[in-house]
Amino acid sequence: MALIHNLGFPRIGKQRELKFALERYWAGTLSQAELESCGKALRAEHWQAQQGIDLVPVGDFAWYDQVLTLSATFGVIPKRHRKGDIDLDTLFRTARGRSTQSSETQSGETQPSEAGSCCANHSDSAASEMTKWFDTNYHYLVPEFDLKQNFALGYLQIVEEIGEALALGVKAKPVLIGPLTYLWLGKFSQPEHNTAENKLALLEKLLPVYRQLLNAIAKTGVTWVQIDEPILALDLAPEWQQAFESTYHQLQIRELNILLANYFGPLGANLSTAINLPVAGLHIDAVRGGEELPRLLDRLSPHKVLSVGIIDGRNIWASDCDKALATLAPAAQQLGERLWLAPSCSLLHVPYDVTVEDKIAADVKPWLAFATQKLQELVLLRDALAQPESTLVKEKLAEVRNIQSARKDSARVHNQALQARINTLAPAAAARQSSFTTRIVAQQKLLNLPLLPTTSIGSFPQTAEIRSARRLYKQGRLTNNEYTQLMQSEIRKAIHIQEEIDLDVLVHGEAERNDMVEYFGEQLDGFIFSQHGWVQSYGSRCVKPPVIVGDISRPKAMTVSWASYAQSLSKKPVKGMLTGPITMLCWSFVRDDQPRAATALQLALAIRDEVSDLEAAGINIIQIDEPALREGLPLLKKDWPAYLDWATHAFRVSSSSVADSTQIHTHMCYAEFNDIIQAISALDADVITIETSRSNMELLNAFEHFAYPNQIGPGVYDIHSPNQPNQKWVTDLIEKAAQKIPLNNLWVNPDCGLKTRNWNETKAALSTMVRAAKQLRAQL
Ligand code: GLN
Ligand code: ZN
Repeated sequence: MALIHNLGFPRIGKQRELKFALERYWAGTLSQAELESCGKALRAEHWQAQQGIDLVPVGDFAWYDQVLTLSATFGVIPKRHRKGDIDLDTLFRTARGRSTQSSETQSGETQPSEAGSCCANHSDSAASEMTKWFDTNYHYLVPEFDLKQNFALGYLQIVEEIGEALALGVKAKPVLIGPLTYLWLGKFSQPEHNTAENKLALLEKLLPVYRQLLNAIAKTGVTWVQIDEPILALDLAPEWQQAFESTYHQLQIRELNILLANYFGPLGANLSTAINLPVAGLHIDAVRGGEELPRLLDRLSPHKVLSVGIIDGRNIWASDCDKALATLAPAAQQLGERLWLAPSCSLLHVPYDVTVEDKIAADVKPWLAFATQKLQELVLLRDALAQPESTLVKEKLAEVRNIQSARKDSARVHNQALQARINTLAPAAAARQSSFTTRIVAQQKLLNLPLLPTTSIGSFPQTAEIRSARRLYKQGRLTNNEYTQLMQSEIRKAIHIQEEIDLDVLVHGEAERNDMVEYFGEQLDGFIFSQHGWVQSYGSRCVKPPVIVGDISRPKAMTVSWASYAQSLSKKPVKGMLTGPITMLCWSFVRDDQPRAATALQLALAIRDEVSDLEAAGINIIQIDEPALREGLPLLKKDWPAYLDWATHAFRVSSSSVADSTQIHTHMCYAEFNDIIQAISALDADVITIETSRSNMELLNAFEHFAYPNQIGPGVYDIHSPNQPNQKWVTDLIEKAAQKIPLNNLWVNPDCGLKTRNWNETKAALSTMVRAAKQLRAQL
């Protein structure tokens, strides 16, 4: 009979208990002992919730982040955060910097915007940099190395937790990040040292310590350890591939079986490397790499276990068990007990339990499987392989089949009119009427903007009053009319302030928006929302991604009334403000019954209609934010062109219905633009605003080298910091930008939206920015 196991379980808690405990601890209202006992109780609860599977992951819990825990284990803590022994507070200092910001207690959960990034400042309290964990929305703390890096076992949280699990009778399988993935994820503090070669050179020193760790784990009596090496799903240079073999030779320990886990993609070019490693078992992601299964079965040595990650750990859909069983059949036949079944990856990336949802429509709820349900699916698959004739199994499979076919046939999923529209969409729909050079003349005639026009990115401070108004409205405690009045008064305030500051292009301020994706999702058909579907993003921060269940359509205009109200208050242009199709896609759980490209196009059409309506309502500048364009990139370079092609196409579909004289803006947050500059150009937005201030305009190099033809607004001050920008600094940055970008093409704006700042900071900073622009204009 196949063994079933799990790679990792959500750690934040069914009611986000860990989040709240952490935030109270940071605020000083919970003691360390209380925090620790909360963590312990959660671990026990999560192990209990996984009862019924054969091997339960231990070590998947982390106080902040599993990569940070491993760094602590090896003593890789930046000097600036070391104070004696490594303990819980060392972790938090490294993750959060030394200052205790209060932002964690804010209830509105948003996408992080490089919070804690070390580029902000290199002060002695700066938090370690945080970045995305492969192509997920989870962020890990980047290990900071130096050339003389030493490793030493210090913080042995995992060994303690194994003891805890064993004492509770849990069939524990410790999980660790592998040494190669760990080094690959890290970086050298000195940029000039930060090469792949230098990272690999650390391996020699890391391995003995890693081995000590494995020895300590073996002493607890467990027999299996899962070592995650998801870099096997990436394009690896030959020296990294080669390092695998000697690494795993050196990590062999008699008492301990290693299950080497790859996930987030097929093994691809690393298949031979992986299959030949001297380990007891290999885990593969059969959701994203199922096509490799036959090849692996051919080549697997006769003593090795193959763990097939057959349940999707990255999405929330209930499995099609018939399909899974068909995939598994040859493996089951060939491997017998050497076949293990698991989710494709850790369940960290899905919410905890769908049964607690009581607002999801009754027809949709059975379509969904969160972490708890996914483990039940594993049990069913195992039983179905072992006893295909059992009546109970047959009944359960029939039930699953019914659910699958109900979903397939549901009217919620299919919108004939939309399909017809897509089938007849003319190629011209994805192109503006004229080229940028022609458009900009028409736009300039209409808008009459000065040189170095000033604007902001969209949101203004989300004050306590705004949040409370939204909450009361949602609860039905404010009438539509009352709520509209309140929001309109916020808009009046925002417009008034911007006029006073004398910005050139105004915004309405986005007071009515809780979140830039949810706000639109709630108004579109095809989306549903969970109440408790939280997924950890970083530390105590969680996101609750909307779920795209069916074809997308827009029953009615979404932003036009706010935008036209705002425009009615000023003679200056007010930008319409929308979220782009790729960002909506990337920050949602998406359908698994059609390619992402198809969903992106549907989103694009809905936004296209909104763009047209805004234009018809007299809005002459429309911004379509795409901060997620880069993060949607596939893990393998070979898949980039196809993605960028459909992604930019979707953006153009969303933005190209307008007249030449209507100006389309887009916005992206901090990102490396070099390797996607062609795609950015293919968006053909008239203006792109980007986050650049912390890079000291270095990020503009990509645009300069590419001779990017359209207009650009490089951010001239950092909105993540409460520090006031000074005028000289802003002027210097604009001048620096002007060396790289033709003056005629330059805009002046902050790095990103201002919703996390307060009004005093915002007014002062924008005034400084406008003064800087005016002073430069006067000098020209
Ligand atoms: N218009 C949005 C805002 O200003 C953009 C946010 C983002 O790029 N993440 O808040
Ligand atoms: Zn931004």
